[in-house]
Amino acid sequence: MHNNRIHLSQSHLSGKEEKYIFQSPNWIDVKGENIAGFEADLEQYLKADSYVAALSSGTAALHLALVVLGVQKDDEVICQSMTFSASANPIVYLGASPVFVDSELDTWNMCPIALEEAIVDRISKGKKPKAIIAVHLYGMPYKHDEISTIAQKYAIPLVEDSAEALGSTYKNQKCGTLGDISILSFNGNKVITTSGGGALVTSDVKIKERAIFLATQARETAPHYQHSQIGYNYRMNNICAGIGRGQMEVLTEYVGLRRDMHQLYFDFFQNIDQVKVLHEPTNDYFSNHWLSAILLDSYKKREALRLAFEAENIETRPLWKPMHLQPIFSDAPYYGQQVAENLFNNGLCLPSSSNTTALEKEKILEVMRKFFA
Ligand SMILES: *Cc1c(COP(=O)(O)O)cnc(C)c1O
Repeated sequence: MHNNRIHLSQSHLSGKEEKYIFQSPNWIDVKGENIAGFEADLEQYLKADSYVAALSSGTAALHLALVVLGVQKDDEVICQSMTFSASANPIVYLGASPVFVDSELDTWNMCPIALEEAIVDRISKGKKPKAIIAVHLYGMPYKHDEISTIAQKYAIPLVEDSAEALGSTYKNQKCGTLGDISILSFNGNKVITTSGGGALVTSDVKIKERAIFLATQARETAPHYQHSQIGYNYRMNNICAGIGRGQMEVLTEYVGLRRDMHQLYFDFFQNIDQVKVLHEPTNDYFSNHWLSAILLDSYKKREALRLAFEAENIETRPLWKPMHLQPIFSDAPYYGQQVAENLFNNGLCLPSSSNTTALEKEKILEVMRKFFA
């Protein structure tokens, strides 16, 4: 099907999706029962006082999170630099400006020291940031205690980008419930998928209702179409939600399979000094290991390994290129040193799909054995 190519992260059907998609005669109905059903599944999984709005993508969820928090034109929003562009783009959709913050070396996520430096400096320049967007990269929880303490100290809302971290926990609390507002993604390459989709998570039922209102064109109660606010077409559809319900049945199993991939790499690299595997720094952290990632001791070696995999038709990829190094954000302020930049230069993501076969695992190991012999 895929020319035997081994991919970084593939969608993985469980066979449990169809029974939800086709359960009602009018399964194509945009207002079908799967949407509320999927939200209830997620709410039950995350924790008792979580409220979930199912949306068309994780990016849409981030956009609405910022709208709900009142981010407006000319505001500033702090964002982890080392992330996917979708974490930062919604800031620009609203005419606000991103301020980027470096990573630390334990989790590769937002550095608390650089975060505080950024907040203090932006305030001294006359603009208090309107929100902080922190990301659990590759499923590894960011330093939540440190980050949220700083957010509270300066009374700035924390948006938790948990797009990659459904199934991860921090101090036994589920990722996706740690922010003032949190978001999830069910894109095709994530731990579970709805083919394409996302969700906004909040502990305030009014915020859930407001997100759904905005996601359905901000249509007010009236016999005609009445609007006094700009709305969006961001609601998840019934078919995608049905896929999501089937995938929720296998979430824990899929997290286990991703963690098995991580263990394979962790064991292999145990005795190879030139390579560090991204791994939970303490028992406070539990990663879904959405992607297994390693850090080599030079850019040259990283590229050589990437090409060695490519020669065997195995997909790997450098880590996220930091946002402050992207042409679209070249004017944005940046706080920190060169941690994110070094991670980008020397890091590599390895095949991590939950449906990697034993034969594929052996092929991957073979490349690594030869390379590090
Ligand atoms: C995938 C992802 C998003 C965006 O989610 P979509 O559902 O693809 O819009 C946002 N942030 C991070 C860190 C992601 O990995």
